[in-house]
Amino acid sequence: MARTVPSEELNRQFDNATEVKKLLEDRFHGRTPKAFTHTYGCQGNVSDGEKMDGLLAQMGYEFTDTPAEADFVLYNTCAVREHAEERVYGNLGRLKEYKAANPDMIIAVCGCMAQEGHVADRLKKSFPYVDLVFGTHVQYKLPEFLLRLLTGDSARIFDLTENDDDIAEGIALHRTNQLKAFLPISYGCNNFCTYCVVPHVRGRERSRSYDAIMAEARDLVKQGYKEIMLLGQNVNSYGKDFRETDQFARLLRDINDIPGDFIIRFMTSHPRDCSRTLLDTMADCEKVEGHLHLPFQSGNDRVLKAMNRHYNREHYLELVDYAKSVMPDLALTSDVIVGFPGETHEEFLDTVSLVKEVGFQSLYTFIFSPRVGTPAASMEDPYTREEKQQWFEELQFAQNEKATELSRAMQGLCYRVLCEGHAKNGKLQGRTFGSIMVEFDGPDRLVGKFVNVRITEPLTYILKGELI
Ligand code: SAM
Ligand code: SF4
Repeated sequence: MARTVPSEELNRQFDNATEVKKLLEDRFHGRTPKAFTHTYGCQGNVSDGEKMDGLLAQMGYEFTDTPAEADFVLYNTCAVREHAEERVYGNLGRLKEYKAANPDMIIAVCGCMAQEGHVADRLKKSFPYVDLVFGTHVQYKLPEFLLRLLTGDSARIFDLTENDDDIAEGIALHRTNQLKAFLPISYGCNNFCTYCVVPHVRGRERSRSYDAIMAEARDLVKQGYKEIMLLGQNVNSYGKDFRETDQFARLLRDINDIPGDFIIRFMTSHPRDCSRTLLDTMADCEKVEGHLHLPFQSGNDRVLKAMNRHYNREHYLELVDYAKSVMPDLALTSDVIVGFPGETHEEFLDTVSLVKEVGFQSLYTFIFSPRVGTPAASMEDPYTREEKQQWFEELQFAQNEKATELSRAMQGLCYRVLCEGHAKNGKLQGRTFGSIMVEFDGPDRLVGKFVNVRITEPLTYILKGELI
């Protein structure tokens, strides 16, 4: 059973935050210290970032978009693919000169990458100007870390503690978006897909308490948020650690019942745990958008087994059929890995055929990236990067054709969309329930409101429309 961080410990961190604030006031003689924070990766990471920004605001920092002028720099990292990690190393390299110009600058790295032992070792040896490295389980200790660094108690800190009793409730978040809010319902993952680093760096799956989630949802609605996105690596297994089933469906229903004009989205659903009860609930709940992000990863049964996904192609297609039968307008999106070790071109073609058969509104396609410590990283991988790149393009071609077909069918249809703001071209923009961007003309006062838009020109991944 998941355990939240005890309130005494959190209060101790809030006291540390107050002390840091006083220290910073003395150090900067009344000038407000500046923090630059940057989050890489998924929405879960963004949500963590909002928590840490909340703590930084509590410590008296204001935020800047320019690392060169920051007194504190925080990179909240992602470890899911190599590319994400390389970007962090590149950006850290650039900080060296800023720190040379401002030796008081504190540089910190946290998140999934920081939780990996080999990364922490590299940071220790090759980036001596990085002061603080902490993993995913101790984010709420940020005030303590800063206090130790500012008082000179510690010269450098590396904290990679693993502790699954780490749900910190009661931290005031610093949300940057005033319309759309992320609401995490669970942390970690128990699935151990053989390619994936997440269970290794995020720990076992632990659900937030039902009451804490409901209280936050009510509060968001009261504050005027128009979209609530429920987050978890596998939202469908929410509550399993309380030994209860279909708790996610219950949560959806209860949030749907909160009075107010808002919409609910969620991600990610794992096909193994995506129950018919959940699909029926989605269909029943008018505030839940008709969008299901259901990653299938591969259309081939041998590859799915090697990935340890616990479902096969037939099961996936049955789920999709059922979902479409109860929600005829359902928009589906998915994640796919191309070039899993040992995947042959023939097996890959099963992925292409599934894409053609299902019809995804959009598809997140990734070339397999070996991750240290995962079983797939040591599997035989006979195909070259160039070959995988070709397959990747083949898949994208098939997806683009399908997506164009789906978009074209939207011509003349009307959608209720949340007007989120302005596109670069000055037009208003929002998203359909399938999360496709629509642009339309209209007065600025519509920002933050739900509006009805008719699609006049459907392009593949963007729609042009008119207000009705
Ligand atoms: N929990 C979600 C699920 O199982 O569907 C996905 C979370 S993962 C952070 C997001 C996506 O990254 C995965 O669905 C997968 O397609 C991709 N991914 C994860 N590990 C990968 C790897 N080693 N190489 C390439 N893509 C990877
Ligand atoms: Fe990674 Fe699989 Fe867990 Fe998703 S379900 S986070 S892909 S291990």
